[in-house]
Amino acid sequence: MADSDLAALAELLDSLNVALCLFDADDRQRLWNRSFLRFFPEHDGHIYDGEPYRDNLRRFYQARLAPEDLPHIDRYIEAGIERHRSQFRPYTFQHRGIWVRVASLPLAEGRRVRVWTQILPPHPAPQSAFERGAQPSPAEITLIDNLADGVMVLDREDRIASVNEPFALLYGLTHRDAVIGQRFNDVYRAAWRDAAPDERDAEPGAQALAESLRFTGAPFELPLPGDRWVRVIEHRNRDGIAYVVHADISTLKRQQRDMLATEQRLRDSEARYRVLADNSSDIILFIDTQMKLRYASPAAAEMLDWPSQALIGRPITTLLHEDDRDAFLARHFEPGAQAGDAGPQMFRARRRDGGVLWVEARVRALTDGSGGAEYVCNLRDATQRRRAEDALAAANAELAALAATDALTGLANRRQFDATLAKEWYRSLREGSSLALLMVDIDHFKALNDLFGHQLGDAFLARVARLLRDSARRAGDVVARYGGEEFALILPGIDARAAHELAESARRTIAAHDFADLVAGGYRVTVSIGVAAAVPEGGSGAGTLVNAADAALYQAKRNGRNRCETI
Ligand code: GH3
Ligand code: MG
Ligand code: MG
Repeated sequence: MADSDLAALAELLDSLNVALCLFDADDRQRLWNRSFLRFFPEHDGHIYDGEPYRDNLRRFYQARLAPEDLPHIDRYIEAGIERHRSQFRPYTFQHRGIWVRVASLPLAEGRRVRVWTQILPPHPAPQSAFERGAQPSPAEITLIDNLADGVMVLDREDRIASVNEPFALLYGLTHRDAVIGQRFNDVYRAAWRDAAPDERDAEPGAQALAESLRFTGAPFELPLPGDRWVRVIEHRNRDGIAYVVHADISTLKRQQRDMLATEQRLRDSEARYRVLADNSSDIILFIDTQMKLRYASPAAAEMLDWPSQALIGRPITTLLHEDDRDAFLARHFEPGAQAGDAGPQMFRARRRDGGVLWVEARVRALTDGSGGAEYVCNLRDATQRRRAEDALAAANAELAALAATDALTGLANRRQFDATLAKEWYRSLREGSSLALLMVDIDHFKALNDLFGHQLGDAFLARVARLLRDSARRAGDVVARYGGEEFALILPGIDARAAHELAESARRTIAAHDFADLVAGGYRVTVSIGVAAAVPEGGSGAGTLVNAADAALYQAKRNGRNRCETI
């Protein structure tokens, strides 16, 4: 119903002397008519559009409560709001000397409309045979006795005419008849008086009860000793007899209380974690089952140039670099991804300004029990770590090169030579190709050392090394310092003939070199070279090739040096 329709209705009801008030979903008063102010003159001049019902109730009770009840006004207000929200049938009460009946109707969007109409006092002088206190009929009593809920029958004077067995159990009565003629207020008080001593202090007081009883027909809840609760619903018939049902709602109440406590605990722990997340220098993300961001901690602004609020509702892919996107999603979000190691992973994030940031990501799934999952993702700026890792990788590569290289000549060292030769031997074995090896030894190097000294001797060594390296430049060729003034050349893919040619060419180059930049007037250095080549066969190792080349070298020395020999 539109508000304008309600306004028209309010005016119409005015003409019938019916009060109307409209409340929105937040229990604020949105609309009322003149009759409302006539029934409740305490609001005249105070009520305003949007006033919370709570404030209205405060005025109502300030005008209504006795001075000794005023300190409990908040409890009355709470009960009033409760009545307001849960009212599903009319009830009656007396206000400022007149009796009114109030009905309430929930509307769309959580709104509620209430109407009040003046009625005659609810206990009219009886026209029937009952003179003082009408009695329920025996048939009614039988019916009542068979109900599971507690039932209390009140006469027109609000004195107990009868109660059933469940009622006696609820209120701890030794005998049902003992309460006949009493007022319910006294029965209720007695129940608390008889409670265990440590519970007695918890007695909720009779004020709220007394007040509730004044709103006849409006259900209300009462606490009982032993952590029990009853919901009290009264229905008064035309004779003025009231049938009051006392339903045991202890289980419901306990469940409600547990649920509230659980919710509170959840809120508390979430609030605690929120503080951590909000203050973390890492980015914390909550990702929902649709892979959308539900929360992003403030660190996102600094690290990724994204104000955290602006990220809410965007897909997680917003933060992923195009090249790392698929790998990231596969690793963390595909079915079964979480089963394995979901430890930190380095990947590139995309900043809002287009920049790239290396981040370390940890993702944990929070299963929601229905098969879907939400995720908590932790992103840490990994620029520093990435830099350190790059530097470490470079240092490692350098170390590996150092370990494989001869310091004086820059050639492969003996270790590297052994490893390479073994590898090439097996490769040639596999491929059925030829592998050649040259062993090179400088002639009369001892004499050179003696002439120029060890240091200049080193310079000669380095120079011969370079000349050898320049003479074997095919991919796969390895030139190594084998030891002292001996060198070795591994030449994959060539036979003895081609190897011999290469050796001869190298020998000539060295013999022609004048070393004039090392010693004034220059100096001549020659080498002897042993050549061996083979197509490896199973059952033999690279050692056979080394032995053959060695033997060839020995022969070259024997045959006068500055020459190449092939075996
Ligand atoms: P040949 O091989 O022609 O028989 O005569 P050679 O004088 O070269 O004889 P040998 O191979 O026995 O001697 C090698 C010499 O090389 C001995 C050693 O002083 C020298 N030598 C070995 N390593 C180094 C080095 O690292 N630096 C220098 N300067 N000399 C070295
Ligand atoms: Mg030697
Ligand atoms: Mg020598």
